[in-house]
Amino acid sequence: MLLRHTPIEISARGALTINPAKTCQPVGAMYAALGIHKCLPHSHGSQGCCAYHRSALTRHYKDPVMATTSSFTEGASVFGGQANLLDSISNVFALYDPDVIAVHTTCLSEVIGDDMSQIIAKAEREGKIPRGKRVFHANTPSFKGSHVTGFANMVQGMVSACATRSEGPRRHVNLIPGFVEPSDMAEIRRIVEVMGVRHILFPDTSEVVNGPLTGKFRMYPRGGTTLADLTRSGDGLFTVGLGRAASTPAAKLLDTKCKVPCEVLELPIGVRATDAFVDTLRKVAGVHVPEALTVERGQTVDVMADMLQYFHGKTVALAGDPDHLLPLAQFLADLDMRVLYAVTGTPTGPRFERRMREVAGGDVVVRQGPGADLFLLHQLIKNRKPDLLFGNTYAKYIARDEGVPLLRMGFPIYDRVGHQYFPIVGYRGALRLLERMLNVILDQQDRDAPEESFELVM
Ligand code: SF4
Repeated sequence: MLLRHTPIEISARGALTINPAKTCQPVGAMYAALGIHKCLPHSHGSQGCCAYHRSALTRHYKDPVMATTSSFTEGASVFGGQANLLDSISNVFALYDPDVIAVHTTCLSEVIGDDMSQIIAKAEREGKIPRGKRVFHANTPSFKGSHVTGFANMVQGMVSACATRSEGPRRHVNLIPGFVEPSDMAEIRRIVEVMGVRHILFPDTSEVVNGPLTGKFRMYPRGGTTLADLTRSGDGLFTVGLGRAASTPAAKLLDTKCKVPCEVLELPIGVRATDAFVDTLRKVAGVHVPEALTVERGQTVDVMADMLQYFHGKTVALAGDPDHLLPLAQFLADLDMRVLYAVTGTPTGPRFERRMREVAGGDVVVRQGPGADLFLLHQLIKNRKPDLLFGNTYAKYIARDEGVPLLRMGFPIYDRVGHQYFPIVGYRGALRLLERMLNVILDQQDRDAPEESFELVM
């Protein structure tokens, strides 16, 4: 009983969050920056923040995550971090030779009020940024938003600093994948390639945080969107953003800055959301859906039909990022499952709640923002236990105490491997989700079954 003090009675809390269902903005900003080839994320704050963000990403991906820091001490904390950042930019280019430095702020530099645009412009004027190299930034105050907000802000910062419109032809589709695993980014790219659509995917962390073991150290792995492609995103025919919370700001900025029209869709989790993604690509790029994708879809629907007998009527609790939860809830509804609770620490606004009720039914309990924490989710579960729980590693304490099978999804996952390599997006990702869901439900059934009901064939 690790969480033995969680009371069953739910009382209103105004100014207290216990076990938040989110992490801090710079984690998302750092992750987004890693999706640019030869980009070194830089944390403008104290060393402790940077160490935490790096370790969160390293533990999740099981690959070393490199980032530098402005290393604030008492002086910078009182007088501002301009001198630290100017020195950092010179040192980082001299020592590590990245193509790009992606600077994100922390709570401390935000409270001080460091003007990042002004400091980076000063570095440019003083010749601290070598020719052909770039420094861009995102403001990521962690006392609001979440890791998803930080990701969105950094991707918007990329567009703001790099996307340029030229007079050249507009042939490619920009894809903004949202805060998903590198395996999901690779799967999104595969679907687009199978459809024969010219594209630029940014950011792209595949083969950056899930690279191969080669025996040689590479400061900058092979993957990542190149600076040249990021610049060319301004010449796109159309932008498809995936996940409203993580992709909308960048997609909209590409529209206003470079006149690239955009549509922001749900993450392609489950069959319906993948259908919407494929159909949008088909329309904007003027291509046909190839037979190979139709077969993948058909196989997934076949497995859904086969498994419906196990899923029908099962109840589910969800904790995670809003961009994951909405299409997942739709997928679960399509399997005749019933979502009881949907909890996200990311502030989302009323649309999320409205959509969740449309998808999961009017009875679903939806909580979002700072007060929507895992403590509350545990209380809800104590009041009515679901058959299945979706959540990150922190949800394992609830799962253990309440005896609910847990399917790990989202960020962070510190205690399992596989999420980096096996996608949950697209038809193939849906197939994997189905397999994992059935396994955790039937494993639990096998474990709890009395001897006379312990079945060979299920
Ligand atoms: S919440 Fe603020 S102070 Fe804490 S690690 Fe994140 S940026 Fe640093």
